[in-house]
Amino acid sequence: MISGKQTVSTYVVILDGGTVETLELTAAQAEGFECLTCKAQCSNGAGAFQPIGRIPSVGSVFQCVACLGGAR
Ligand SMILES: [Zn+2]
Repeated sequence: MISGKQTVSTYVVILDGGTVETLELTAAQAEGFECLTCKAQCSNGAGAFQPIGRIPSVGSVFQCVACLGGAR
């Protein structure tokens, strides 16, 4: 995780598909640097990210492939 971006705030996330959820996220998660579920940073292989939604005026949010169920 990114130590300088661990401040937790509440964000309204518009998920792909149109579902709106209010989530407590770290700044790193909200800005797309960390997986929304496990806080892993984007890398290759099982740590690769896919966009799953966006936060208006903040940016896109991501999950790593492992959390999306691509690597079991
Ligand atoms: Zn993850």
